[in-house]
Parts: sequence; C-alpha cells; structure tokens
Amino acid sequence: MRVTFLGTGSAMPTAERVQTGVLLEADGRTLLVDCGAGVLHRLSQTDPGYEAASSVLLTHHHLDHVADLLPLLKARWLAGEDHLEVVGPSGTKALLDGLLDVHDYLDGRVDLRVREVGARAFEVAGFDVSAYETRHSVDCLAYRFESAHGDFTFSGDSEAFDGLTNFADGSAVLAHDCSFPDEVDVSNHPTATQLGEALAGCDVGRVYLTHLYPHTEGAHREMLDAIERQFDGDVRFARDGLRFEIDGAE
Ligand SMILES: [Zn+2]
Ligand SMILES: [Zn+2]
Repeated sequence: MRVTFLGTGSAMPTAERVQTGVLLEADGRTLLVDCGAGVLHRLSQTDPGYEAASSVLLTHHHLDHVADLLPLLKARWLAGEDHLEVVGPSGTKALLDGLLDVHDYLDGRVDLRVREVGARAFEVAGFDVSAYETRHSVDCLAYRFESAHGDFTFSGDSEAFDGLTNFADGSAVLAHDCSFPDEVDVSNHPTATQLGEALAGCDVGRVYLTHLYPHTEGAHREMLDAIERQFDGDVRFARDGLRFEIDGAE
C-alpha cells in the first residue's frame, strides 16, 4: 500500500499545508480519504490524479474535510469520468443532498453513490477498513486500513485517548491529529504532550503528526520532544506531498 499525504493542514491552511486529504493506492486501486480545500489541486499533482479518485471516504463532515467534494465531482465530470462513490459516517447522504441542492447544476452529472458507515468493518474501493469513533466536536471516525505488509491507521480529527491508540496498536503507520503545541489550551484536538501520553506503550512502527494548525510552525522540535518523552517509537511530521510505502521492506 502506498500512502500520500495530500493535505496536512487544518481549517487554517498555510502556504505549505492545504486542508485534510490522504491518498491510498494498492494494486491499481485508489482511495481518497477526506477532501478538504486544496486537496483537489494536490490530487492533480499525483500520478493517479482526480481521474482515478472514484472513491472518497470521509472521517467527518467539518468543512476542512469535505470542502473540495463538489469541486472533485465537477472535475471528474469534466474529465469524462462517470461515477463517484462517497462513503462516510451517518449524515453523509444529507451532506451530499444539501451540497447538490445548492449547486443543482451538478446533480446527475455523474453516477453518485453515497454510503454511510459506522464504527465497524467494511470495504471500500477494495480496501478492508475498520472504523472507530473518535472524540471530536462532531461524529468522526478513525480508520484502519489493512494491507498484507502492515496496516495504516488514520485518526481523523480527535483528542488523543487510549481507546484510539489501542485501535491503532500494531499498525505499521499511524497518522494522528496533532493540531497544536502544548501552550495552546484546546479541546477536540490533542496537543503534543496529550498525544504522547496516549501513545505510551503503543506498538506502532511510525507515527506521522498531521492536521497541523499554523501554531505548530516553529514548534516542531518541542512537539517531538514532548511526544518522545512518553513514546519511544519513530515520530515524524507529515507534510503535503509526502509519500511512503507499506511494503514490508523496512
Ligand atoms: Zn479538521
Ligand atoms: Zn473536525
């Protein structure tokens, strides 16, 4: 499985970080996870492009995770692609209905299939996925993607807590919300120390920090130090365009 971070920013994007999006590729199949503002453009910079992004899996419905959904639908329509599948938590159907109500000239342009999932196992675009409810201001699901050489877990937006790190336990790679450095008093997202506490004792090959607010710029070293005080695994900052393979070769 190949994983590409398309967007590693938040609702406050920066020049280097657009909003949230992750592209998964395996055996010629692709799956886009979240589609915030800027993700369509980042997708156009990849080899598969938006032409191949026929399935989108949403963690939740905050704007920084769904803003480019209709722009993606329109780009696919104009590129001659005839379908789009959107999978997400409860309310995803109403979200798409509402968006297409506003932009009604896009309704019916592609064969749009919408499916709602809960905190259980399911399949999308040929990927075997399990889901776990996170702690956020709205319903949000974390996802664990199985692959033969190791799993990839994506936290979505969430506070750090043992339930979620237990869900990720044993993954080859975990990408986790680490929105803020310690000096920011925040709920619904973790600071570095809070994430470090939840990761303590967790068996994950590598952790990427993502969903990074502008407050994290210039604070990377102190954030890594805060996490590494609790967790002795490999921790790195994600960045837009970063790509890695889970192939068992490492
Ligand atoms: Zn977010
Ligand atoms: Zn959110």
